[in-house]
Amino acid sequence: MKVLSTAWVGVFACLIICFSLGCTESATKTNNDGTAQNQISKEEIKRHLEELSSDKYEGRKPFSRTEGITIEYIKNEFESMGLLPANNGSYYQEVPMMEITSHPAETMQITTKSGDFDLRFNDDYVIHADKTVDDISINDAELVFCGFGINAPEKNWNDYAGVDMKGKVAVVLVNDPGFGSENEEFFKGDIMTYYGRWTYKYEEAERQGAKGLLLIHETTSAGYPWFVPQSSWTGALLSLTREDNSTGCDMKGWLHLDAAKKLFSSCDLDLPAMIKSARKPGFKPVPMNASVSTSLTNDYKFDSSKNVAAYIKGKKEPDDFIVYTAHWDHIGVGQVVNGDSIYNGALDNASGVATVMAIAKSFSEMKEAPDRSVLFLMVTAEEQGLLGSEYYAKNPLFPLENTVCNLNMDGVNPIGEMNDLTITGIGHSDMDEIAEEVAKTQDRYVLPEQEPEKGYFFRSDHFNFAKAGVPALYAEGGYDHREKGKEYAQEMRNKYTTDNYHRPSDEYDEATWNFDGMIQDGQLYLDIGLKLANSQRWPVWYDGSEFKAARDMKG
Ligand SMILES: [Zn+2]
Repeated sequence: MKVLSTAWVGVFACLIICFSLGCTESATKTNNDGTAQNQISKEEIKRHLEELSSDKYEGRKPFSRTEGITIEYIKNEFESMGLLPANNGSYYQEVPMMEITSHPAETMQITTKSGDFDLRFNDDYVIHADKTVDDISINDAELVFCGFGINAPEKNWNDYAGVDMKGKVAVVLVNDPGFGSENEEFFKGDIMTYYGRWTYKYEEAERQGAKGLLLIHETTSAGYPWFVPQSSWTGALLSLTREDNSTGCDMKGWLHLDAAKKLFSSCDLDLPAMIKSARKPGFKPVPMNASVSTSLTNDYKFDSSKNVAAYIKGKKEPDDFIVYTAHWDHIGVGQVVNGDSIYNGALDNASGVATVMAIAKSFSEMKEAPDRSVLFLMVTAEEQGLLGSEYYAKNPLFPLENTVCNLNMDGVNPIGEMNDLTITGIGHSDMDEIAEEVAKTQDRYVLPEQEPEKGYFFRSDHFNFAKAGVPALYAEGGYDHREKGKEYAQEMRNKYTTDNYHRPSDEYDEATWNFDGMIQDGQLYLDIGLKLANSQRWPVWYDGSEFKAARDMKG
């Protein structure tokens, strides 16, 4: 889901220049066949990217008719590289999931003291269910404004304090109260904590026993425009199966900001004032004296999708693993935009899969295997809530305590080389230092995450490794274009977020994609993995990181 620039700039990609700038150390080594050793191949990246983002794969949605050809393509490539199957002779790891398609009624009726009105599905709100119940009706359920929807005992903070949410629908704000507070100690200031993520809000509403949850969408705080909830939280949605799949909220979803304004004003509540009070300690939930009625019918099925996993066995410490990840899935076929309904996901994340496959190829061609083992894990269902990596973290093919680190790629820079290496979630572990050492060999400097308020650290697969205590790196160049500077890089990022992110226009275009940045980041990831694979080093979490405890427990 990572946002990166996808500018279709036609700059001639020159491998020679890249190699001489980027990787002087190993530039002279060659394989027996004369090809460069320990180098990322542009042709490999391009070949995989072109293939996986083509219309033939129909946007690579798990469970869809093109899942099979997607995972088979990856598997065949791994096999032809001579990589070993990671799951008892199989390259696949089954990920049991359920797929629920909710069909919400066209409207939602709101009853308030100053009058009733309807909100329209899609324009004003989106909702879905993630339980296996055929028909759901919500009849005059009370609406309660529950601030940021956060219950954090360690911070002495409870937005649900004193309210029994049974039968009620919570209306909550995105992000967390620290956002915009200019106080780093308050939550984490502008850095989004996990409490700011929609996944957390869904989880907490369930724990509170609420009938429903409506998140007020606001572009800056959410980090993405309304189009994203519209495209990502409608249609068929996947989740990992649970012990009892019929429990939980009746509806979860999002309210458009304009609809929220209308709702609050007809309840005689001032939204800006409500937001202000929600950001103060001691906030108490506010009954809105309003109710909501609507209904949904649901179709559901159980099925399993697959992670694809292959590895190279280390020659000295075969039980220790470096794990590369990239999600192979995207969002499939959806709403038509400008005459196109295939969400190809070229940047998101055919680019990551292609680059990790090029890294795998490079490892496979090394004259000697590295000391430690290296796992290449292409996970499923990232777009539906990081499900493939969540499943892997809960059911690892090799023990997590022997997993040295995770190196994740999601959306690899298509606009050319960068001077920066921007680390998302910087400050958690000394993976930062390792990345910086390698970045210096490419004449690059490290930048902390530039938009920490958007919570990107929680938005791709490395997060599930971090949550399970495995130090993880998620980094890429993206803010300081080597030839065209910072403004250009920013402009391209913005353009991607507005025009292409989770849209059918996230497509590969031979004329405009520049592979130099992908080669640069791919080389960096290859060098980091190789460095750790040939060392005894165990990356560590810094004191104060919320992920340290999980690693310490594993001893
Ligand atoms: Zn992605």
